[in-house]
Amino acid sequence: MMKSEKKVYLDYAATTPLDLRVMEVMSPYFSHIYGNPSSVHTFGQQAEAAIEKSREMVSEYLNCHPHEIVFTSCGSESDNLALRGTAMAAKLNRNANHILISPVEHHAVKNTAKQLNEIYGFELEYVPVDEFGQVDPENVSRHIRDDTAVVSMIHANNEIGSINPIAEIGEICRKRNIPFHTDAVQAAAYLPLDVDKLRVDLLAIGAHKFYGPKGVGALYVRKGTPILPSQTGGSQEFGIRAGTSNVPYIVGLAEAFRLSNLERNNRRANLMALRDRIIGFVLEEIPDAKLTGHPVERLPNHASFVFRGLDGNALLTILDVRGYACSSGSACKTGDPEPSDVLTSVGFDRDWALGSLRVTLGTHTTAKEIETFLFALPGIIQQARSLASVTS
Ligand SMILES: *Cc1c(COP(=O)(O)O)cnc(C)c1O
Repeated sequence: MMKSEKKVYLDYAATTPLDLRVMEVMSPYFSHIYGNPSSVHTFGQQAEAAIEKSREMVSEYLNCHPHEIVFTSCGSESDNLALRGTAMAAKLNRNANHILISPVEHHAVKNTAKQLNEIYGFELEYVPVDEFGQVDPENVSRHIRDDTAVVSMIHANNEIGSINPIAEIGEICRKRNIPFHTDAVQAAAYLPLDVDKLRVDLLAIGAHKFYGPKGVGALYVRKGTPILPSQTGGSQEFGIRAGTSNVPYIVGLAEAFRLSNLERNNRRANLMALRDRIIGFVLEEIPDAKLTGHPVERLPNHASFVFRGLDGNALLTILDVRGYACSSGSACKTGDPEPSDVLTSVGFDRDWALGSLRVTLGTHTTAKEIETFLFALPGIIQQARSLASVTS
């Protein structure tokens, strides 16, 4: 039996712990404020007031009108609504049949676009990315068409941390009058999201990536953007997203987003120093290691690598036994022996792409944790490599 040591969580891109201040604000909405916000009586009106206050809080930090915020059940649902809703409306209104995304989108966007292609008959095109996984706006210019229904480009990449030039891409889409969606679920904790500066028509966030509760998200929809509901029923959320509102979670999302915006600069500075310590150490001390994603234009809490000749899942298992919770690319892919399509689309061959490691930091990460992690890492990489050479 191993000594019981304190586990170190280095997987904040997969999810973050709920901020206890947020939990406190949510609490009354689980107990005595329980009305249905659609009800006319006082119970309902209390809940309705909480939702509308939350909508105002979120809109303040996105720099938009409260009526442009639609609450959903998660970041994935926001992405689904953005793509399906705009694609279907564009098909109906102007016979548009072309969807433009990047090859490094989160599955919530990519698999939605694939279904729109395979089942609903939309033509799906990928704008290529460079070695860092970034989209060149010029390439969007080249691929966008009059019959493009929607363009969707990830803001900050969950797997490799790179940040896309969203405002420049938005400018191109706006000139062509084509709706532009960005998946800002991973970006929301660290980047200011001003929808006017970003020139986006739709933008998705999810609370559990910024210390809010799991199971709640929001979608910004610019006024006048043609969109059909992807979930029909009652008239909640301006008729775009039916279903009785999840009051405590919406209140939690708004409070977490507020705190995140207030505390962003402090969080950024601390984490960036730790991130750069990890990147510097790994590239210097571990042979056959490469950084994935952009060296500078990347999330402040995000370090990601590939190591030649090892199995990323075996590496994660060894790390976990030693007390370190990391990830190898997208959390949804654990157990999948195929190399990640994000890593192959930025040009890594199988031998490198299978050995990926993502280390993401957060508010609870300490310098001491990082030092003990880095002290252990070279030996752990060596162990994973020796396993790979035995089994291959
Ligand atoms: C986590 C994540 C999602 C999905 O959000 P959920 O709230 O977990 O459904 C979508 N896109 C990106 C970039 C993410 O990091």
